[in-house]
Amino acid sequence: MPGGLQALLDLGVDAPGHDLRGIRYLAGGRGAEADFAAGLGRGIRRTTLHAALLHAVAEAGIDVQTLAATGMSQDDAGVTVLTETSGARGPTLRAPWVVAADGLHSPTRRFLGLDRGTQPGLAHLRTTKRYGLRQHYRIAPWGNHVEVHWSASGEAYVTPVADDLVGVAVLTQRRQTAQDHLEGFPELRDRLADAPVVTSLRGAGPFHQRTTRRVAGRVLLAGDASGYVDALTGEGISLGMAHGRAALAAIAAGDPQSYERSWRAATRRYALLTRSLVQVSRPSWGRRLVVPAAAALPAVFRVAVNELARPVP
Ligand SMILES: Cc1cc2nc3c(=O)[nH]c(=O)nc-3n(C[C@H](O)[C@H](O)[C@H](O)COP(=O)(O)OP(=O)(O)OC[C@H]3O[C@@H](n4cnc5c(N)ncnc54)[C@H](O)[C@@H]3O)c2cc1C
Repeated sequence: MPGGLQALLDLGVDAPGHDLRGIRYLAGGRGAEADFAAGLGRGIRRTTLHAALLHAVAEAGIDVQTLAATGMSQDDAGVTVLTETSGARGPTLRAPWVVAADGLHSPTRRFLGLDRGTQPGLAHLRTTKRYGLRQHYRIAPWGNHVEVHWSASGEAYVTPVADDLVGVAVLTQRRQTAQDHLEGFPELRDRLADAPVVTSLRGAGPFHQRTTRRVAGRVLLAGDASGYVDALTGEGISLGMAHGRAALAAIAAGDPQSYERSWRAATRRYALLTRSLVQVSRPSWGRRLVVPAAAALPAVFRVAVNELARPVP
């Protein structure tokens, strides 16, 4: 999304990809389109983004150690992290602060007991358990928008990431093969019929994760680790960037608790819009209405897309 791209550019990370002008929703031959008002977004393959981030970290002279954190304890002066590497015990690390960005199923969140149950009234977000699956196809992009194809059982996100590569992510609660998922999106299936699949199927989920707090002493949770609603609105990277900035500002100010406020300020808009869309599209009649409603109310669709596209505070 443009906001996340700007945050990366501000850090000097300019990863190659495919320019994106906006979002297009599609279902049953109908469509709705909204362009980003705040500039272009960029479709970037995850491995390309990671390489660019690693390069920037190396350029900044920051030491990177590839270790798995297996436990954590803290006192008034700092945090001790136990590690593992290739199944063997790794070095014990000590730091004044830890920012844990260890993903949707954050082990740190578990170590610290910060996992939270499902919000009353939103129990379906956990019980329905939505997952994301992705694969890449060797084909020239046929547009400059992220296409979101809606079906009865899920959504397929089509993101051009290079001149000859398109990523397809299916978000769904249904367990079935990749081909069966694609059958639910006939327009997309026909478009991809002759395109070679060039990556293996990878997935993540369930999406909905909640936290009781984001700060526990000297440890701060950022990104998906700090809580997540759904990938439906494509904001994860933008939010992770904003959380990282806010966590570091709170530490630099010597006021880690202020991160709770800045985390909420960064997350509120995304959480509200994403929860609303997940709620509306949960019943089958709701799902059927999403694309016709977006087509019938283009101004509303444009506002919603641009709420998500603008920089995260
Ligand atoms: C199919 C799919 C499509 C998506 N598409 C988009 C999109 O188009 N745009 C977007 O913005 N977002 C998208 N998202 C969401 C996005 O992937 C996440 O929001 C984002 O990756 C979160 O970043 P993160 O750094 O918080 O966590 P992650 O990217 O999950 O990174 C967590 C890292 O922590 C490491 N880790 C875990 N445990 C340990 C441990 N014990 N010790 C050390 N390291 C550990 C992991 O190996 C991993 O490298 C998508 C998600 C899915 C599933």
